[in-house]
Amino acid sequence: MIDRGPPLEREVNEAISYAVAHGIVVAQSKTSPMGTDLRHAPFTLHPSPVNKQCYHDAVRITPTLNRLIYAISNDHDYLRHVLEETALADAHFTGRLVKLMTSLETECSDKQVHLSICRYDYFIEKTQLSMVEMNCIAASFAALGVETSKLHRYMLSYPASSATSVDSAALPENSALAGIAEGIAHAHAMFVKHHQSHLCGRQTQNRCACLMVVQPGERNAYDQYALQAKLWEEHKIEMVRASLSRVASSGQIDANGLLRLSVEDDDEQVIVSVAYFRAGYTPDDYPTEAEWIGRESLERSSSINVPSIAVQLVGTKKVQQVLTQPGQLERFLGGTDDANAIKAVRQTFVKQLSLSSMENGSSHAQQAIDCPEDFVLKPQREGGGNNMYGETLKQALLEMSAEERQGYVLMKRIRPDVVDNVIVRNGQCVAAKVVSELGVYGVIARAGSDEQLNVATGTLLRSKSAHHDDGGVAAGVAVLDSPWLR
Ligand code: ADP
Ligand code: MG
Repeated sequence: MIDRGPPLEREVNEAISYAVAHGIVVAQSKTSPMGTDLRHAPFTLHPSPVNKQCYHDAVRITPTLNRLIYAISNDHDYLRHVLEETALADAHFTGRLVKLMTSLETECSDKQVHLSICRYDYFIEKTQLSMVEMNCIAASFAALGVETSKLHRYMLSYPASSATSVDSAALPENSALAGIAEGIAHAHAMFVKHHQSHLCGRQTQNRCACLMVVQPGERNAYDQYALQAKLWEEHKIEMVRASLSRVASSGQIDANGLLRLSVEDDDEQVIVSVAYFRAGYTPDDYPTEAEWIGRESLERSSSINVPSIAVQLVGTKKVQQVLTQPGQLERFLGGTDDANAIKAVRQTFVKQLSLSSMENGSSHAQQAIDCPEDFVLKPQREGGGNNMYGETLKQALLEMSAEERQGYVLMKRIRPDVVDNVIVRNGQCVAAKVVSELGVYGVIARAGSDEQLNVATGTLLRSKSAHHDDGGVAAGVAVLDSPWLR
């Protein structure tokens, strides 16, 4: 804990007040009723330095990455092939998602628009931009990230700010929330246009709305709520919230393929245009068969799912490992993106190794056992806190069977630059050496070959104390930050 002398104390109190006043908040428990028991989300007092060139490169390659996700998601045979062994090793989750994707292939659900909202995360080591992962489902913190950018800008102008060397011109504008809302609004409009004849029929109950698929008891609900409010404020589009089990119990697909859903505290049904997932990315989100039934209903109906099961599978660690192999990017981007764009994406890739017995898995495992500090062991999970490092990684690999190892991939460990900042958490401040992870949000909307929208829309910077291995704000390790371009 650092000595909060009077000037710093005033500055930290100012920052906390600003954060609470601008919705940089999380609920303290999963059982608190909405709007109660809130606390400021953890954040850094100052923006952290980020290499300017790397920042711009990350933004520039985003449309190519968006297109990559789209192209792979259309190639189900590829996904099945790449995930074959992983699906066996992780049968209850990855395996189940693959099965569901396959079982619905013969059904011709009328999904005329594809919308993806992804976030591509990077570490920066000197001037090297290195991709940590692509998030293809439930990429969160756009709203709180935007407010944190504003908080840092505000704090720079604060009298006697301790961040004297930072120039506010070096703090980029952050439009993450607006861009995501625009993507959803676009897909909603396309849905309404396409289904107009069914929506304007004589039935009385034809309220068409977007759905946020949520975890029961979500603590990060205010980041989500800001998106609901933005959609209404800017686009006059309603977004309702429901869990997967609620979709299962109250959703019905009508004769036209429309998903009609009754939402809590509301007798009227809504027709779901866009289903935006902030749940469904971990096996914990499917505690019973009901949640799988809800997922299947969404996939089967004509609602535009963000993501589809196929897009979610593109985001698995296994697919991301295979994509680092020669020729893979060309396979999916060759026709649309020039060689320079492909090269720029490849330059961000970090060495990843397969643990498949068909692909030298045992020798790769041995490399990691010999030098555990050089690798990260990743399962097919999202949300932070799942990877293994150092001795734990070594022991895990030694204890796993060859089949079990196939559920994981190995990635070279990145050693990002360490900088000084002050972490503000639970009203307390601590001076810390931190490392920062830059995320860029990407939104793409396509109707077949018609690319209607393909943009990078804002960023998220999350920083964590340099001695932590894993990250994640929701996982309680990383804190909200914003980039100071240098
Ligand atoms: P998740 O889906 O759980 O977010 P990630 O791949 O993002 O999975 O890993 C979680 C965290 O682990 C990251 O935020 C980062 O802090 C750390 N991490 C992941 N890959 C690496 C790597 N190659 N080198 C160093 N740290 C990593
Ligand atoms: Mg991550």
